[in-house]
Amino acid sequence: MKRLLSLLTAALLLMAPVAAGVCDTLDLSALGEIEEVQMIEEAREWTYPIPYELLMNSEYLVLVNRGNLLDKDYIPSDLVTDLSCRKVSYDKIQMRQTAADALCVLFDAAKADGITLYAHSGYRSYQTQNTMYYNRLKKMNGVDDGIVQYPGASEHQSGLAIDVINKAGIGKNFTNDAFAPSKEGRWLAENCWDYGFIIRYPKDKEDITGIKYESWHLRYVGVQVAQYMRDHDLCLEEFTEEWKEAVAAYDGAE
Ligand SMILES: [Zn+2]
Repeated sequence: MKRLLSLLTAALLLMAPVAAGVCDTLDLSALGEIEEVQMIEEAREWTYPIPYELLMNSEYLVLVNRGNLLDKDYIPSDLVTDLSCRKVSYDKIQMRQTAADALCVLFDAAKADGITLYAHSGYRSYQTQNTMYYNRLKKMNGVDDGIVQYPGASEHQSGLAIDVINKAGIGKNFTNDAFAPSKEGRWLAENCWDYGFIIRYPKDKEDITGIKYESWHLRYVGVQVAQYMRDHDLCLEEFTEEWKEAVAAYDGAE
């Protein structure tokens, strides 16, 4: 090997004066190509903190709002009713399996901290939402006051949302004044992220979500995403825009 290298070096040294004239054209264009390849490889590097595969394949990142309606025929295929956590008895609660499991882990963790939570309202069909919406409209003389979501715009249809309350809130209308400052409300706001849930409609994001603050409404997105959203103070609209931009930049660099 050494011998081969020294032979090559000698050959190059001999050729140098002769080749100098053509090197400018031949070698520089080759260098240019190499640089181009390296630049493309750099752009193809996935640097966003959430794995590409997770973003592309997760079933739990769906954005549901007035501009992103769920189909009226959409019913999650893996709804379960056997939530082992505490429920408000008059309400049959359904959630998608993974979200239901995560909620039960969250309730157990709360219990271990001396906090008792109650699951109130989970999956809601399009038809139910439709009835609720038009009943509300009738009550408000045709004005949509934003309290009941437009049919297809409710996260409850996704099977990934749940309203959680405390004992004092059972049988009453939900209010942030009653729930958010309670020890249950504070525990939830601080800890839900570590179990894969987000406070979907935060107080300081009303102008982005278009929905009034709901301290009791949790939405399952998975632990990694929930913690990332907490750490970067993002609501789901902001997070969705951010990761879709990252994916577009990455895919567009091909
Ligand atoms: Zn809700």
